[in-house]
Amino acid sequence: MTSEGTHATWSAQELDVERPDAAEYRKLAGDLRSRVDGRVAFDEYARVLYATDGSIYGAQPAGVVFPTDVADVQAAIEVATGHGVPILPRGTGSSLAGQTVGPGCVVLDVSRHMDDVLDVDPGAKRARVQPGVVQDDLDDCLAEHGLKFAPDPASSNRATVGGGIGNNSTGAHSVRYGITDAYTEAVTAVLSDGSVIEAREVVIDSPEWEQIVAGDDREADLYRTVHALVEEHADEIEARYPDLKRRVSGYNLDRVVYENDDGERVLNLAKLFVGAEGTLGVVVEAELSLVTVPEETALALYCFENLTDAMRMVPVALEYDVSAVELMDDEVFRLAAESDGYAEYVEPIPDGAEAALMLEFDSELHDDFEAAIEATNERFLDEGPAFDVLEAYTESAQDDLWKLRKAAIPLLMSLPGDPKPYPFIEDATVPPEDLAEYVEQFEAILDDHDTSAAYFAHAGSGTLHIRPILNLKEEVGIEAMHSITEAVTDLVLDHHGSFSGEHGDGMARTEFTPKMYGDDLWTAFKEVKTAFDPEWWMHPGNVVYRESAADIGPDSERGVGADNREHLRYGPDYQSVEPQTELDFAEDGGFAELVERCNGCGTCRQTDSDVMCPTYRASKEEVQTTRGRANMLRAAISGDLPEDEIHSERFQSEVLDLCVGCKGCQSDCPTGVDMAKLKAETKHRHHEEAGATLRERLFADIDAASKLGSALAPLSNWATELPGARKVLQSVFGIAPERELPPFRRETLQDWFENRGGSAVSVIDADRRVLLFPDTYTNYSYPAAGKAAVRTLEAAGVHVTIPDDTAPSGRAAFSAGMLDKAGERARANVDQFAPRVADGWDVVFVEPSDAVMFQDEYRDLLGDASRVADGGSRTPVERVADSAYGVCEYLDAFRLDENLSVPNRSPGAAGVLSYHGHCNQKATNKDHHAVGVLRRVGYDVDPLDTTCCGMAGSFGYHDEHYDLSQAIGSRLFEQVEDSPADRVVAPGGSCRSQLGDRDAADDIPPHPIEAVAKLLDGS
Ligand SMILES: Cc1cc2nc3c(=O)[nH]c(=O)nc-3n(C[C@H](O)[C@H](O)[C@H](O)COP(=O)(O)OP(=O)(O)OC[C@H]3O[C@@H](n4cnc5c(N)ncnc54)[C@H](O)[C@@H]3O)c2cc1C
Ligand code: SF4
Ligand code: SF4
Repeated sequence: MTSEGTHATWSAQELDVERPDAAEYRKLAGDLRSRVDGRVAFDEYARVLYATDGSIYGAQPAGVVFPTDVADVQAAIEVATGHGVPILPRGTGSSLAGQTVGPGCVVLDVSRHMDDVLDVDPGAKRARVQPGVVQDDLDDCLAEHGLKFAPDPASSNRATVGGGIGNNSTGAHSVRYGITDAYTEAVTAVLSDGSVIEAREVVIDSPEWEQIVAGDDREADLYRTVHALVEEHADEIEARYPDLKRRVSGYNLDRVVYENDDGERVLNLAKLFVGAEGTLGVVVEAELSLVTVPEETALALYCFENLTDAMRMVPVALEYDVSAVELMDDEVFRLAAESDGYAEYVEPIPDGAEAALMLEFDSELHDDFEAAIEATNERFLDEGPAFDVLEAYTESAQDDLWKLRKAAIPLLMSLPGDPKPYPFIEDATVPPEDLAEYVEQFEAILDDHDTSAAYFAHAGSGTLHIRPILNLKEEVGIEAMHSITEAVTDLVLDHHGSFSGEHGDGMARTEFTPKMYGDDLWTAFKEVKTAFDPEWWMHPGNVVYRESAADIGPDSERGVGADNREHLRYGPDYQSVEPQTELDFAEDGGFAELVERCNGCGTCRQTDSDVMCPTYRASKEEVQTTRGRANMLRAAISGDLPEDEIHSERFQSEVLDLCVGCKGCQSDCPTGVDMAKLKAETKHRHHEEAGATLRERLFADIDAASKLGSALAPLSNWATELPGARKVLQSVFGIAPERELPPFRRETLQDWFENRGGSAVSVIDADRRVLLFPDTYTNYSYPAAGKAAVRTLEAAGVHVTIPDDTAPSGRAAFSAGMLDKAGERARANVDQFAPRVADGWDVVFVEPSDAVMFQDEYRDLLGDASRVADGGSRTPVERVADSAYGVCEYLDAFRLDENLSVPNRSPGAAGVLSYHGHCNQKATNKDHHAVGVLRRVGYDVDPLDTTCCGMAGSFGYHDEHYDLSQAIGSRLFEQVEDSPADRVVAPGGSCRSQLGDRDAADDIPPHPIEAVAKLLDGS
């Protein structure tokens, strides 16, 4: 089968592959390695992985250094600049304006090792941190003190504090708290000459001040220069810097001199590092001030018939001590209503709402939420243009509204095809009182350019996220982008706003900054830059640029010019091959489009929630994120990597094999980059080229091996325990000797069922009929879970049959990328099951990965080929998929557990269980069922917030993957040990094996259905 589009092979022969001067870079890398303790990566893979961020830009750096400490940062800067190569510090790389795209730079990735919280002083509400700490991880550390770091960018689950300082980040609560510069009290930074500066408040004209400025070093020069510039340009600073809650463009010359809490006039160079986007130095430590976390909040969401009315009410909202004022428009509502993931959240929004303003109230400013909302209701509803309000007081009701608000970007970025709502002028900010007029004028600009956009985000601070829909693979789209930026920056200037109020200047906006600040301040910016970095080594051309090589700064082209049309990730020259595919990619727009859906947002580097991406969490390696894999695949199909690189041993083992295929990204990636599917397809093509390994073939056919093992049991079990047997398994099959292999049972589940005489509930007496799928693990190694499923279903009045004519599900073959085999099995099973399903039977699974195989992957494997005319609107594969259920899902979906006779349904009467869900079921939104059933039969359940267990089918058995598998599992193990539960249950066979293998385990934990069956009368 092939996907639609122009079919070619994997080969990128016809594409140009540009290579930088390899010899020069080899020398630089060698010198770096001799001076730096952290890893130095200068190969093509590293350059591809660090060529992009969350923006529309892309350009390869010289290489990447992962400093371990300040000395490494100093050494890296000295060596790189000694070779004439500029420096670019980087955190997560989630920037939206191209701040972490540095053509030819040495990237210093401080997120890898320099990520500690060094000290928390709850009394003083201060914390000292290294730059690579993720903001949510910092907040987790602060939670026990009731404190948090106030700036809350939407990306806080992966964005680093260093990156937040670099970009002067902020979030929905800027109305209440302001932005990062207000909370950065001091920084330690390494400058471009390798010197270290402690930037903090220094009282002007104090003895300390006199001592500093009397020196003849770089620090003294900085204090003198910055002070003089601020004095000299005081009037311009007053006139040109807009009076806004958020102003991120340019350097913070308006913040660097101020009156401190003691009424003294101070100069604090730390405020200049904030928003400098890595252009003044590398921050290696920061002292942050903190705020208390409000105990409670409430929301009121006002609905309007048009956007302008909503915008007119923003200044009114600000009169009421709100902590956030957020906008959503009807485009967001429409997209949410059409999506599977967000439809439920848009349901409460009344018809006719073309815009909504969401006001948040917190308990530090309000002691009576109802009274506060009553007051705004009067202004918005009774006297104002709002026609409805949704009030949310509970945490879950508020979460739902925030989910809808935050759905905007993922929904917009998931638009199919090449035209996309791209960020380039998406965070322009104007005074809130101007918003109504500004929006109308913005709309006119979009009309002039034949495009449109959705309107949403932080209306209370005057920042609207407006992303015009353009095709940046075409010249015309790129020119439109430039022209829209010109027009919008003019418009923003008319309103005395800021070109960026949130995401920074980067490659998107630096070109336009002189227009915002005028000649004098623009020159002052260049003087600031030159004082900190005389040779313009630090991320040159960002925030400020030089008009020519003769301009202030070095006698070179470094930092000359800025044009937001340059260094685009795509552009008119971008080409990619659309490979022939075995899986059906029609719904994804093709293989290439699915790869290109990765916009670099970095959510796959999130550290503490959801499933995606377990391998990154365990390794902290960019290549082990979904983004890293997508970037590598994009490079392979677009010619950025050499021809046939995709089939190299290295690409297979480093890029693809470490993806455990958990499917977390299918649901957690905002644009649905389904790497498990991409990997399976790519591995399949690789097997066609290079053949599959013995181990891959063994695991793909694990059903046959297990059948034999079971027939020969107990001999087969002893054989694996013989001295030297593990060594043989390791050397012949590459199976980790640390692993216990699942035992083979002489009596299979099918044997047991036959021996007991089949179903205990006759078809006539039953409300429902079930075909229980005899999966390999349950049938041959762990029949107890299957027996429990049979007994429970029967106790609920279901007629059960275990068929003996099924093929293996194909899950193992699919995971190994042996799609021919997986497809044959899918075909055989659909042929077997479709007529029975049409006859009213349901197909139920003990093993979640097999259930999801039927529910999801079979559609991809069989796709259009299965569209056999059957008189109905659904194809056989769809009918089988729709009738396939995990066993707990089945009980829950039809409330069959309510038929069960259990001793006591009171919460906790049956004991306390912790529950580890299967990642495939989490990815397909099927994971909540087991918890619901367990609770209803009397268990108190602690659902663990875990990702993949790390075993992932056969992955954890692989010798070379054992350590990573254990590292992934360690988070699960910790949660199990920390849980107050009596024991853990897990539906996945491999999860149970992984849990059983941990040091603290006595045995393999049970399947949840065993916990249910245990309560049945007579058990
Ligand atoms: C979907 C999405 C939503 C977003 N929402 C928000 C939002 O609500 N608010 C917001 O403000 N931003 C938002 N952003 C932008 C971005 O996530 C934030 O600016 C974030 O704080 C950047 O953190 P990072 O670790 O990714 O930094 P990076 O992108 O790695 O770096 C940011 C800048 O800081 C510099 N830098 C990094 N580390 C250092 C260091 N140690 N020393 C000196 N300079 C350094 C870099 O050179 C770069 O210029 C969003 C991005 C995405 C993709
Ligand atoms: S894979 Fe998805 S989550 Fe990760 S960066 Fe790309 S779009 Fe974002
Ligand atoms: S399938 Fe799992 S391991 Fe692979 S990229 Fe997606 S989230 Fe990461």
